[in-house]
Amino acid sequence: MKATLQSVLSSVSQVNTPKPETVTEKTLSTKMATQRSGSARKRVVIVGAGFAGLYAAKKLKSANVDVLLIDKNNYHTFQPLLYQVATSALNPDEIAHSVRATFRNQKNFDFLQGTVKSVDWTEKEVLLSNSDTISFDYLILATGAIYNDFGVEGVQDNAFFLKALQDAVNLRSHILERFEEANKNPEKLDDGLVNVVIVGGGPTGVEMAGALSELYTNVLRKDFPKLDFVKANIILVEQTNSLLGQYSEGSGSYANDSLEKMGVDLRLGESVTSVTPTSVTLASGEVIPSHTLVWAAGVRAHPLAEALNIELTRGFRIAVDADLSIPTKHNAFVAGDLAGATDKDGNLLPQLCPVAIQQGSHVAKQIIADLNGKARKDFSYFDKGSMAIVGRNAGIAEMSPQLGGIKLRGFIGWLAWLFLHIVYLVGFQNRFLVLSNWFYSYISRDRHARLIMRVSSDTETDVDEASQKQATA
Ligand SMILES: Cc1cc2nc3c(=O)[nH]c(=O)nc-3n(C[C@H](O)[C@H](O)[C@H](O)COP(=O)(O)OP(=O)(O)OC[C@H]3O[C@@H](n4cnc5c(N)ncnc54)[C@H](O)[C@@H]3O)c2cc1C
Repeated sequence: MKATLQSVLSSVSQVNTPKPETVTEKTLSTKMATQRSGSARKRVVIVGAGFAGLYAAKKLKSANVDVLLIDKNNYHTFQPLLYQVATSALNPDEIAHSVRATFRNQKNFDFLQGTVKSVDWTEKEVLLSNSDTISFDYLILATGAIYNDFGVEGVQDNAFFLKALQDAVNLRSHILERFEEANKNPEKLDDGLVNVVIVGGGPTGVEMAGALSELYTNVLRKDFPKLDFVKANIILVEQTNSLLGQYSEGSGSYANDSLEKMGVDLRLGESVTSVTPTSVTLASGEVIPSHTLVWAAGVRAHPLAEALNIELTRGFRIAVDADLSIPTKHNAFVAGDLAGATDKDGNLLPQLCPVAIQQGSHVAKQIIADLNGKARKDFSYFDKGSMAIVGRNAGIAEMSPQLGGIKLRGFIGWLAWLFLHIVYLVGFQNRFLVLSNWFYSYISRDRHARLIMRVSSDTETDVDEASQKQATA
């Protein structure tokens, strides 16, 4: 089902720490350690340029520390809009932003492109996949989460996961290629060539289903006028009996009705038991012919957690104290999807952007408190609410009880969703481009990003590969 990946975006995926042949790994790591020995300031190493890492680094702007942010990519990805790249609404570079550009004006900031694979707690060093070591005084771990396939047969080999830019571009290309193939051989439509099965009725699954339905109806029907679209089905499979389980019942029903009106085939109370390149089998025994399965059925913490020899909690997340530091490792913090922080009732906090943003800021503040000889504070999540979009003029915005519990659905919910996503998108140019592309799509019902291309996952590393294996174990 997945096509072979070739390198197209090599410029963003090359690791930025080349090893000159005459320099050994040990001398290189020694060099990196000594580079900072002249500085009397403490060094804060942040691993991961996601929401948590970015907001932690920003908060440390005026602190008397050296900040080193490490990420395997040289850019930050705005994951909530990945599905729009996968459905041709946006280009990948419109939802990602260079880390160096983001911090151009922050004097105490430096960036290193590299993949962290472990931490030496005794030496206070992070270990990179190329064997470099980076020493730290304070450490903030924020490598996020990966998809959990729950061991379902064939998912790892055949499903598409929406987690990185490469995933979104490859999924888009895969779908468009299936249409080109169907145009050449229309009889293959009977084999489910352009059917897409999406697994998981949470916000990602609902948004993907709605956007895909609009792509099929408004764009591909016109691009491929000879094809019989009765044989082009979008099927959303959800294990429970309702969509958007973490939202109110009314919002779940609203998503349900909206998607049905858009022609999405909903299979509630169903689960996937196995996947092959050309079919998806459900627990009921039904076999759906489909060459494309999108897995949006839940995440687990990034497997770096398991390589650290520290206590983990549910979902493989790292157990943390109330101030988000790692128990027994007072100078190391965890933030975002990787952190096993709980609310006052002991429930794990959701793996969402606002949690990551607030935790990133919080850990930075605790480091500043340490430096100023002040007491640390416990982390407390302020929940503002949840949002999702089903399609054109069909959004859902639910404010938390602390903010009045107001629920907006339809056009107003859609506007609220657009506004908030623009606000949190990193980079002024990206905001401008996304807004103008949305405006264009709104008035024309067209999608501008329809190139078929393959993107290499070069930045996938030993840790990532190990992770996928562990996730399936
Ligand atoms: C498709 C999708 C849709 C979503 N929609 C929403 C939404 O609508 N609203 C919402 O609130 N949340 C949404 N989320 C969840 C949200 O994106 C996450 O909660 C948030 O990104 C977590 O931030 P983080 O900083 O913990 O991790 P991430 O944002 O995942 O960042 C982790 C960073 O760590 C880097 N990294 C990983 N491993 C290594 C390593 N070994 N070495 C160096 N760097 C590494 C990665 O490159 C990445 O930059 C969505 C997630 C996905 C995947």
